[in-house]
Amino acid sequence: MAGNLGYDVFVNDPPPQDGFLPNGEPKRFSPMASTLIYGSQDAVLTDPGLTEDQARALGDWVAARGRNLTDIFITHGHGDHWFAAGLLAERFGARVVASAGTITQMHGNVAARPLLWDKMYQGIPPSPVSAVTVPDNRFTLEGHDLVIVEVGHTDSDDTSVLHVPDLGLVVAGDAIYNGVHMYLGASAAAGGFGAWRDAIGMVEALAPRHIVCGHQDSQRDDDAGRTIAQTRQYLDDADELLRTEDTAVGFFNAKIERYPDYLGRYVLWVSARALYGVREHPEGNPAQITVASWL
Ligand SMILES: [Zn+2]
Repeated sequence: MAGNLGYDVFVNDPPPQDGFLPNGEPKRFSPMASTLIYGSQDAVLTDPGLTEDQARALGDWVAARGRNLTDIFITHGHGDHWFAAGLLAERFGARVVASAGTITQMHGNVAARPLLWDKMYQGIPPSPVSAVTVPDNRFTLEGHDLVIVEVGHTDSDDTSVLHVPDLGLVVAGDAIYNGVHMYLGASAAAGGFGAWRDAIGMVEALAPRHIVCGHQDSQRDDDAGRTIAQTRQYLDDADELLRTEDTAVGFFNAKIERYPDYLGRYVLWVSARALYGVREHPEGNPAQITVASWL
């Protein structure tokens, strides 16, 4: 708490999914975290999730906090972070806010629904892009600044984080991860992890004490120094394993050996397929290879 300002986190379960991983485990997506930043009367919610079931669980949790939800902030365009935003916006009468870059990516994710998202998951609600930008990427909650910081390419293009200086808090979307396998597939087309490392530096420069990650293990704390260091380490390990492992399955198994407790191994397998698929097919279209890696 800082004065009358506080925050709380709800981690939603991944949606049900068919299929198996190379080690025989069922495919399982990552847990998804939403942050409620609240004052004495009003509140702002971040990244409200993908499916109708997730929207219901999150909405009931928000309703129990007894605040007036003014805004729903979306960190980046990936559908798992916002396809349910319309349901929450309607339930609470809230505005949806994002950066201009994120709004562009949201349209791209809507276009990709029939090829990608709707093939993987059932119960995704209608997802019109209703998000608006705010002047200078700033809005307020009971007089406290909420600052949208655009950090560029991380696990997708045009990503952003929400900085709440009065709480020493960054809501990091997918720029920083916490105990969950990171989605590395888009880095194959982006030519490596350089842009992502720059983004981590931008988050660090905000000097937060707490970071809520878009994908986090609810059993872990939100210490900023630890999550930043572990996100960097995960990228460094990926670079090393890309040199030493010859196949996607080898990369998948080696990552599990190094990160036995990390959640979301389906995303690890998708990442491995995309990274090795692009490498093995230099004549191919990296974006197409990356999308096909999900299916
Ligand atoms: Zn995500």
